[in-house]
Amino acid sequence: MQELATERVVIVGAGLGALYAALRLSPRPVLVISPEALGTGASSAWAQGGVAAAMDPADSAEAHAADTVRAGAGTVDADVARAVAAEARAHVLDLTDLGTCFDRADDGAYVMSREAAHSFARVVRVKGDQAGAEIMRALIAEVRRTPSIQVLDGVIATGLAVHAGGVQGVEVSLSRPGGSVPCLIRCPAVLLAGGGSGGLFAQTTNPSRIRGQVIGLAARAGAVIADAEFVQFHPTAIATGADPAPLATEALRGAGATLINADGVRFMAAWHPDGELAPRDIVARAIYAETQAGRRPMLDTRAALGQRILGEYPAVAGACQAAGIDPVRDPIPVAAAAHYHMGGIASDARGRASLDRLWVCGEAASTGLHGANRLASNGLLEALVYARRCALDIEAALAPCALAPAVTLPDLAPQASPDPHLVARLRRAMTDGVGVVRTAAGLHQALGIIASVESAQADCAELRNMTATATLIAAAALLREESRGGHYRADFPDMDGATGSRSHMTLAQAMTLRARTALETT
Ligand SMILES: Cc1cc2nc3c(=O)[nH]c(=O)nc-3n(C[C@H](O)[C@H](O)[C@H](O)COP(=O)(O)OP(=O)(O)OC[C@H]3O[C@@H](n4cnc5c(N)ncnc54)[C@H](O)[C@@H]3O)c2cc1C
Repeated sequence: MQELATERVVIVGAGLGALYAALRLSPRPVLVISPEALGTGASSAWAQGGVAAAMDPADSAEAHAADTVRAGAGTVDADVARAVAAEARAHVLDLTDLGTCFDRADDGAYVMSREAAHSFARVVRVKGDQAGAEIMRALIAEVRRTPSIQVLDGVIATGLAVHAGGVQGVEVSLSRPGGSVPCLIRCPAVLLAGGGSGGLFAQTTNPSRIRGQVIGLAARAGAVIADAEFVQFHPTAIATGADPAPLATEALRGAGATLINADGVRFMAAWHPDGELAPRDIVARAIYAETQAGRRPMLDTRAALGQRILGEYPAVAGACQAAGIDPVRDPIPVAAAAHYHMGGIASDARGRASLDRLWVCGEAASTGLHGANRLASNGLLEALVYARRCALDIEAALAPCALAPAVTLPDLAPQASPDPHLVARLRRAMTDGVGVVRTAAGLHQALGIIASVESAQADCAELRNMTATATLIAAAALLREESRGGHYRADFPDMDGATGSRSHMTLAQAMTLRARTALETT
């Protein structure tokens, strides 16, 4: 493998976590590894609702932390929730200083949306559903003005080089179709900010790049993965058959939109006293049950918003229009889709992973904030808080460095990228066996398919990164013999106690379970 060395900190990914950390590390030289052109391929740019933060004087960080703990179904680390909620306001002000145009009232106060399981209207927003796009626009502009940040686009990380428990560098390949052989970039520190794994599922709201590859490459290098089984399924992905499925933000239900089925029945009252604003996992299971029963669940915005949906929620209105749906006249067909991974690379309060010289932030991390069920709009907030903490800790851990030459990759020979048929098989297996409703039999079957997909193209690192994460999610789901938050087992439908413990697993442990499962089922 060809290799080169740099004094730059290498940041894997180019979403909110990566760019915010790169700015916070400035003027230390960094190299941002971005598979696509900046601003595309990241969930961050697709975020609709906004950032949860107690900005209203009548609200409080304590109440925000309490809601976070309650939503997480007994596995949130309460200290983490308190600390993150306490920092939220400062990050919203910081994003504002960086040029993000949040919606403001005439008196300058932030306009706040109400989202499910929040006890207060607490989500700062941009034009109804444009928060992610606007935040990323502002950050990208700032990144382009910052000379210490080098962005290498068209490049994907495929592995980590590890020696004696410490990360030495990142293996990268060209992300173009057809791929390339990898090249090792040796560097003083690596920050993983490669997003979650929703795209590992056939039904998802995540961009197609977000398929658990960065969690998988860390796991393959030996990093501990936490809470892998906790995947959040969003109840209102717009069901048009598009892949990925466009999202109808939860803020619509906060604004009064209702859920009905093909018979015109509002079914949520039978599931939870909060109806449409019940915790996300419960709404997702209700939607899934209606879909399975053939009753075609729909989001009805007509009475609550009427024509206003066109101007106030342009992303949702645009997605409907593209699918030939007129939300002013007709309800919007919806389905539950993989949306957010609460689990990820285990990290501590400073953003450190279990390997030396490895930090992680954003959805790729598992910090203990979300427990078994993320509170709406805590995802962007977590990315902001931990990006800053990683930057502070990396700065403290490394010797000063003011200047470093730009990195230029050598010519890299082509090498096969993942076979699309194998990826499709993997994603189908995840939705069918590791989706909204899980059973031991379904998880066994999924683990078998994951193993056969992996062995069909064993020399492809990108595919192995995906199958590693898929294995961890399915194995952890098999071991958790209870239902909790986003993890629902039809064969263990009850929660095993009001509080539960988080799961921690290495890939080696998950692979052992996978092999044992294969032996049991043959
Ligand atoms: C449709 C949608 C709506 C959402 N709405 C909200 C919301 O309103 N509020 C909220 O708090 N959260 C929301 N979320 C969740 C939130 O957007 C994400 O959790 C958050 O943006 C994650 O930020 P990140 O920087 O960790 O990852 P991302 O923004 O996903 O960025 C990951 C980056 O890593 C790159 N990458 C992937 N693989 C590799 C690789 N192998 N090598 C190098 N780079 C790689 C990607 O190209 C991308 O640049 C939403 C998510 C979706 C999908």
